[in-house]
Amino acid sequence: MPDVVSVNAVTPAFADITTVGVGGRIGVFVQPRDRVGLIEAVEDADSRGLPLCVIGGGSNLLVSDGDFPGVVVRDARQGVSVPDEVAPPEGGEPMVHVNAPAGTNWDDLVSYCVRMGLIGVEGLSGIPGTVGASVVQNIGAYGQEVGRVVDSVEVWDRQDKVTACLRASDLGFGYRTSLLKRTMYQAPAVPDDRFFPTPRYVVLSVTLVLRHGSAARVGSVQLAGALGVVPGSVLPLGRVRQAVLAVRAGKGMLEDPYRYLTDWMGSCRRAADLEEALTAVQDDIHGPGGGRVLLDRHSCGSFFTNPVISREAAAALPEDAPRYPAGEGGRAAHVPMVKTSAAWLIDHAGFHKGFALGRGSAAALSDVHTLALTNRGGAGSDDLVALARAIQEGVDRTFGIHLIPEPVTPGINLV
Ligand SMILES: Cc1cc2nc3c(=O)[nH]c(=O)nc-3n(C[C@H](O)[C@H](O)[C@H](O)COP(=O)(O)OP(=O)(O)OC[C@H]3O[C@@H](n4cnc5c(N)ncnc54)[C@H](O)[C@@H]3O)c2cc1C
Repeated sequence: MPDVVSVNAVTPAFADITTVGVGGRIGVFVQPRDRVGLIEAVEDADSRGLPLCVIGGGSNLLVSDGDFPGVVVRDARQGVSVPDEVAPPEGGEPMVHVNAPAGTNWDDLVSYCVRMGLIGVEGLSGIPGTVGASVVQNIGAYGQEVGRVVDSVEVWDRQDKVTACLRASDLGFGYRTSLLKRTMYQAPAVPDDRFFPTPRYVVLSVTLVLRHGSAARVGSVQLAGALGVVPGSVLPLGRVRQAVLAVRAGKGMLEDPYRYLTDWMGSCRRAADLEEALTAVQDDIHGPGGGRVLLDRHSCGSFFTNPVISREAAAALPEDAPRYPAGEGGRAAHVPMVKTSAAWLIDHAGFHKGFALGRGSAAALSDVHTLALTNRGGAGSDDLVALARAIQEGVDRTFGIHLIPEPVTPGINLV
């Protein structure tokens, strides 16, 4: 029996352990405290043919309100280590490896790296969730993506029942995707029942390779604007992190830190980092928006990915629609593709910030971010699904583009 905090005693509902705060009761909830316990808990569920969901911070999950008659495993391990504090220079630059178990809170890791003068993840400050899940969807923001600084990922392979060390080059990182994520789907948003809602490869730990230094280049135009500098400027790491957190706070793109004061989330963040997040939110909640500021954070972040479309489809969009080069893709795999903005499409299809299907509906678009579907208090999964479908249909009707949800949606069909 793995070393666990709780097994099948009182279990939480997904609503208790996800940022959007919806989802049904969980059959068995297991929180392994060590690596072997994590593997055993996963293997135990798989060998008994039970539905399995390995959960991190629950910030990229929209789960149905129906009961989940399976096992939810949450890695209780936290911490960051630097195996090679004085690493030999690679390519002339002092590189440092940083390792963390999957259960470590992502922003705790970023905060550690910024304090230690390690460059490469400061732009990813404030993204909710865990280190384990960060590599599943290749989190990204403000010109950085975790996949660019991953050295290797240690996984438990649920199919071959072995552990493996996957190098960055094995992980097939792309825009909000990876080899890990692709094992859950037959096609975009179409689950592969063998593994969904958790990949074939369960992440045990992640090793990043970062550059030693005290200042970072600000590549993102939006971030440079917030800092009052020109893109490409080099600024102290701590200042970049604070600017990212401020911009994210203004867009409701930080999680509600009060969730870590609840029974089921209580042990999931490093105390000092939680204290900092709680202090930072004080100004916002006592400002003009009051408590609504926190409700804007009860979401899964961006609900739809930015569509990557053919050049012909992009040409058919209105002139002012955003268009960015997106490499090559399509069925022939060598067709130049274009990325457009899901937020722009949603807004121009008539779904503006704060939109809800009915007056006073508990599910609404964020007041400050068109791409976030929020739970204003008491929403059920059906409310959020109805809103998501209305947006998908509206964008489809207006622009002929089908939006793909970014979160993992067990028990919910949003194809
Ligand atoms: C307010 C807000 C802002 C956000 N901003 C961003 C952003 O800027 N950029 C961005 O990329 N994302 C963003 N997100 C989405 C989300 O934070 C990330 O996808 C995050 O990496 C999810 O981590 P998690 O631990 O919460 O995963 P969960 O929601 O717990 O799980 C998501 C998926 O990962 C799987 N998973 C979890 N742990 C493991 C593991 N150890 N091994 C294998 N699979 C695992 C789960 O089974 C599930 O399929 C935002 C979300 C919110 C709520």
